[in-house]
Amino acid sequence: MSSTGNTVSSTGNTGGQVLILLGPPGAGKGTQALRLAAECEIPHISTGDLFRHNLKEGTELGKKAKGFMEGGGLVPDELVLDMLFDRVAADDCRGGYLLDGFPRTLPQAKALTKALENQNSKTLLLEVPESVLVGRAGGRLLCKGCTNIHHAEFSPPQKPGICDSCQGELYRRKDDEPEVVKERLKVYRKETQPMVDYYRETGSLEVINGDQAPDVVFSALKEALVGGGC
Ligand code: ADP
Ligand code: ADP
Ligand code: ZN
Repeated sequence: MSSTGNTVSSTGNTGGQVLILLGPPGAGKGTQALRLAAECEIPHISTGDLFRHNLKEGTELGKKAKGFMEGGGLVPDELVLDMLFDRVAADDCRGGYLLDGFPRTLPQAKALTKALENQNSKTLLLEVPESVLVGRAGGRLLCKGCTNIHHAEFSPPQKPGICDSCQGELYRRKDDEPEVVKERLKVYRKETQPMVDYYRETGSLEVINGDQAPDVVFSALKEALVGGGC
């Protein structure tokens, strides 16, 4: 992986829209991002998924990120920025891409704004009450074989423990234990909320009620995109 040095980061893009999906842990970013990316035919880039991949592969980056992730904290900005800007410089992002879980801090948002200076982008926030979020994360089931997301209660697989999409094995994230989720929500309030306010102040934030059925949320997201398109 080459380093961008975090200073001047280029997205390597020549056109296409960049969709930025914000929201607290468990808000439904991943669930909606999968559908939205398919609908708009752009890559879905989740920094959480990228870190989990590095963790699984035992890379240097994975080793550095592990402790932060397991404790419910954020991975330091410089590690996130290098990884993210490396990824979006790839050829498949030239026609636009969808960001899920990035940015999460004010410095990350400022670095992204700078990198996207001459590019079309749209920032969308999924709002969900905290009381709902713990149950969302607590029942989350990820797939070992693909990016599909189930929920033990709200989106159960047809066969217990097996992914509907690829028949892969389902698992729970360690950081979805209630105590870690509470810590992640605390970190969201402290580190990410000020960044959401920054987007709100620029007047470019579309706020979507994420406390509705997934299909209803998806329609609202599409509505928020100009003309209901991508
Ligand atoms: P969720 O979907 O519950 O919001 P993610 O899968 O996006 O969680 O992220 C899992 C963990 O990966 C985070 O708790 C954090 O430790 C790390 N992480 C992901 N994205 C970022 C980011 N942009 N900045 C810092 N840490 C991140
Ligand atoms: P995030 O990426 O924001 O952390 P996810 O998309 O992984 O959130 O969703 C968290 C959990 O909540 C998953 O188990 C998912 O199946 C479930 N979920 C997502 N959207 C909804 C919804 N609108 N209603 C009920 N459950 C949902
Ligand atoms: Zn699967």
